[in-house]
Amino acid sequence: MRKQIAAANWKMNLTLQQADALVNELLATPHNLGENQQAVFGVPFPYLISVKNKLDGKKNVFVAAQNCYDKKSGAYTGEVSAEMLQSIGVDYVILGHSERREYFNESNAMLAAKVNICFEYGLKPIFCCGEPLAIREAGTENSFVETQLKESLFHLTAEQLTGFVIAYEPIWAIGTGKTASNEQAQQMHAHIRGVFAKQYGDTVADSISILYGGSVKANNAKDIFGQPDVDGGLVGGASLVATDFATIINSLK
Ligand code: PEP
Repeated sequence: MRKQIAAANWKMNLTLQQADALVNELLATPHNLGENQQAVFGVPFPYLISVKNKLDGKKNVFVAAQNCYDKKSGAYTGEVSAEMLQSIGVDYVILGHSERREYFNESNAMLAAKVNICFEYGLKPIFCCGEPLAIREAGTENSFVETQLKESLFHLTAEQLTGFVIAYEPIWAIGTGKTASNEQAQQMHAHIRGVFAKQYGDTVADSISILYGGSVKANNAKDIFGQPDVDGGLVGGASLVATDFATIINSLK
């Protein structure tokens, strides 16, 4: 059975003190993670160790970096390597978020290299894909997303893709308050699963957790997560409010 995941993406928000307070409040707010469910905290680099320590010993709870560089080490001032993340016990790395694709020119090819280096150092990617509004309006979102997946992931083996995590985030729904409808989310998630089924077979495709991202809130998470091919969410704004994120965790299937 594939994992159901509520992943927080704090982006470039919060001071260390605010981050500590948020985690404390969340730990004090009733939430329940079943055997097959996970909560993942995608936090800014400087807080990874502190958040990880706070969550230490909590079952099915993990930390994620929001990026890593695609080179092993060396003269890359300001960058953070996969090996550094591994050395502090990071579990997941969010890769290819649309903000990184847009503001930092991350291409499908660069993301393929980042996925590889994550695997090399035992980090699990949460690989983001999703189309901009113009593509949705043109009706070509299926092929757009398919190309993102093919160019960044199709060099991987079936073994590497078994249990892999993808986040489908239509760019027009991120931070806009505009959520994809349940039908739009289900349609694209089924398409993504189909793309993997065609290339790698049903067993691999069925093992992949496909999260939905784009204005997931406490009041819509249950409906979206209830779709058959939606395996949880990647959550920005609502993950900064402890009670909201606790509700979102409790909305996992
Ligand atoms: C995100 O940061 O990936 C995201 C989906 O943001 P929001 O939930 O705020 O739309």
